Amino acid sequence: MFADYHVHTPLCRHAEGEPAEYVAAARAAGLDEIGFSDHCPMDGPEPFDDWRMLRAELPRYVDMIVAAREAATPFPVRLGLECDFIAGHEKWIEQLAVAAPWDYLIGSVHYLAPGWDVDNPRWIGRFTAGPDATEDIWARYWAAFTAMAASGLFDFLAHPDLPKKFGHRPAGDLQRFYEPAIAAMARTSTGFEISTAGLRKPAGELYPADEFLRHAHEAGLEITINSDAHAPAEIGHAFDQAAAAARAAGFTRTLRFEGRQRRRISLA
Ligand code: ZN
Ligand code: FE
Ligand code: FE
Ligand code: ZN
Repeated sequence: MFADYHVHTPLCRHAEGEPAEYVAAARAAGLDEIGFSDHCPMDGPEPFDDWRMLRAELPRYVDMIVAAREAATPFPVRLGLECDFIAGHEKWIEQLAVAAPWDYLIGSVHYLAPGWDVDNPRWIGRFTAGPDATEDIWARYWAAFTAMAASGLFDFLAHPDLPKKFGHRPAGDLQRFYEPAIAAMARTSTGFEISTAGLRKPAGELYPADEFLRHAHEAGLEITINSDAHAPAEIGHAFDQAAAAARAAGFTRTLRFEGRQRRRISLA
């Protein structure tokens, strides 16, 4: 019943395990598909940062996944990419979109400003740098996420709620952040993932929160359930828990992708 569509490779310099090991883990976990989605290369001067492939490595990434797919036949191995959305760089995403025969493109917000990746432990002090620091970070993140959703460039969006990674959440109802993002996703028919990665981080909960899930279901959005694996042992991690949260919010199906076309699989 499950596919894991958010999976990295050693090309991003912070994941371990060859594609064949991830595929073996997916089969062992009883999944019926796996899809790779390593961090995309970026435009402009390189290296952009120290946690992604270089532009010159993109063909090797595609070849690696295609080879893993051939070796795994008939087990389905999909080709995806986790793309960093940065406002003003939409043209780069359009170029990436035609650079390989993708099954799906994932949109992610990690960067709140040049050189500031919100999930990097290096910047953890910024959450507590002033009385409004966490509120300000969440506002920046969700403004960027909403712009990404409005772009319509992606099949689904990664780990909504990422700024809670280290356990920092603003006071009050978080719906004020979620609502514009959900509305933009509804307008562009963009899906999102329930990511079990948050369970493995200080946040200690799924990305996104249950409240986001409830409103997303009301708005007619569609989901995937993914691990964001950076090691083979993380494949399919806590998918039963994610599926339970999805069902509790009203979801009855998850999305599958091939050639950027959608299918729906029952969550029953
Ligand atoms: Zn990563
Ligand atoms: Fe990410
Ligand atoms: Fe990822
Ligand atoms: Zn990720």
